Amino acid sequence: MKSRVSRGKSKIKKLLTEGSRKIVILTHVNPDGDAIGSSLALCRVLKKMGHIVNVITPNVYPSFLQWMPGNSEITVFYNALKKARLMIQEAEIIFCLDFNDLTRIKQVTAPALESTAHKILIDHHPTQKYFTPMVYCDVNVSSTAELIYDFICSLGFRNFIDLETATCIYTGMMTDTGCFSYNSSNPYTYRVVAKLLEMGLDKDYAYAKVYDNFSGSRMRLLGYVLNEKMEIFEEYATAILSLTREEQKRFRFQAGDSEGFVNYPLSIKNIKFSVLFVEKEDHVKLSLRSKGSFQVNRFAELHFNGGGHPNASGGEMHAPMQEVLKKFRELLPQYKNELADEKVK
Ligand code: 5GP
Ligand code: MN
Repeated sequence: MKSRVSRGKSKIKKLLTEGSRKIVILTHVNPDGDAIGSSLALCRVLKKMGHIVNVITPNVYPSFLQWMPGNSEITVFYNALKKARLMIQEAEIIFCLDFNDLTRIKQVTAPALESTAHKILIDHHPTQKYFTPMVYCDVNVSSTAELIYDFICSLGFRNFIDLETATCIYTGMMTDTGCFSYNSSNPYTYRVVAKLLEMGLDKDYAYAKVYDNFSGSRMRLLGYVLNEKMEIFEEYATAILSLTREEQKRFRFQAGDSEGFVNYPLSIKNIKFSVLFVEKEDHVKLSLRSKGSFQVNRFAELHFNGGGHPNASGGEMHAPMQEVLKKFRELLPQYKNELADEKVK
């Protein structure tokens, strides 16, 4: 089944080839490796073509993502309200990367909606409806970064991809596939990786920058959470982890420190559904992961105001941790059949 949706490509090409444009690239709140990698890759290519480009993230992102080429030029909206608003106001083109629901850019939604710029969406999350007429989307692609590679090549701009851009693209692909352990069974993904390697990509360097870059307290926090906070619900093939504000303080928690925690319970035999609950100032953030056909995006959408991919989603609830956990535990029996019947490949 064809999953690629490409609309307005000739208009996009025209916009990008007829003189220098003021361009803004927006990505989602709590940006991950794919959000930052795809934004910086596209930014670099567009700059090489002679455009004036700014990348804006709604909020800060972890230090293990702050090394990619071009990182220092990213504007964090919450830290530079006036400057970021002006960039959006003056933009002639706005690219929206790695999200397809405007609520995902939080405070940036209003200025983005007010802007009359041409908007182009590039994404790989499922949706019923696109908020821009110009789109380049595909739910079956590993990452937005892989789509960015295709997008650039399909417009005939491949010669603008240099080693730095290749590093950003690879980092997006690597992080969104758990180092090619899921969402990465399409041979084409590896053809892209091969092209990037031919350009001189040092993939081991990218890996080390992301995964060998943790603080000692983050490792201790992981040990603590797995040892003392993991709850296993065998009859529902489910395991959960939770992290309160007090625990975050105790382990000198930095943005991104709990990244990846949610994947650990899926290594337990027969566990198919894993959730991490992280207490924030006024809400609890959920990270949901599954193996096989249990769709966590549907679960997150229905119960926790969230969404994402079928096997990797997020959500949130504005209530104290105990209430959120109670709601979750009470929901599980409804899913008993789905989780129990589920076959893990
Ligand atoms: P994570 O658990 O790593 O924060 O997010 C996993 C996936 O779910 C990512 O693709 C992310 O974009 C998506 N996601 C995370 N939180 C939310 C949310 O609150 N709403 C929606 N719609 N998607 C989310
Ligand atoms: Mn992504």
